[in-house]
Amino acid sequence: MTSSVPEYFDPSHPGLSLKAEDQFTRASPGGTGYAKTAGNCAATLRPTRDVVDEGFDQTLWLDAHEHRFIEEAGLINIFFYLDNAIVTPRLTGTILAGITRESVLTLARDWNMAVEERDISIQQIIEASNQGKLREVFGVGTSAVIAPIRHIRYMEHDIFITNTSDDSFANKTRRAITGIQYGERKIIITGWCQSH
Ligand SMILES: *Cc1c(COP(=O)(O)O)cnc(C)c1O
Repeated sequence: MTSSVPEYFDPSHPGLSLKAEDQFTRASPGGTGYAKTAGNCAATLRPTRDVVDEGFDQTLWLDAHEHRFIEEAGLINIFFYLDNAIVTPRLTGTILAGITRESVLTLARDWNMAVEERDISIQQIIEASNQGKLREVFGVGTSAVIAPIRHIRYMEHDIFITNTSDDSFANKTRRAITGIQYGERKIIITGWCQSH
């Protein structure tokens, strides 16, 4: 089934507020979480409704095993600009291998930025934030393109992220991706051939 959708996140939106889910999980090892199947949505409905009722925009999914490692933000992949690197959770089988995730990684590598696909614990993000090393957080997906994240609640911790300026990595990437989609920009992407 296909259908057209309006802009999912208003670009003038101040950024998403997420609640890290420490009870429910979206996907578990050995399941179908890596794939774009309609069934994956079912597990997200109740927890998402609960966090929305509490005033958040979306759930921050943690791993099913220990509830320690960050997986995705709602139904979009998540990225951190941490210290000097663009960091996103590695694909473990419980994270959807999104094309937008792949596009952001490809652009970042093409721009000669340090890129890491690895495990990221919620604790590491709290520490990075306390040390002033958490520069940006954003979600990526076809519907959202790039959606800046301004707040994460994990248990009693509140993490606030302030960099939503025009020259942020997230905004630069959004302009590059939509520019390519609309045929307004030509970018020779060198990394593409290596990963495909
Ligand atoms: C669709 C989806 C994404 C984003 O994938 P894209 O291919 O970039 O649209 C990320 N996570 C989940 C769970 C999804 O369903």
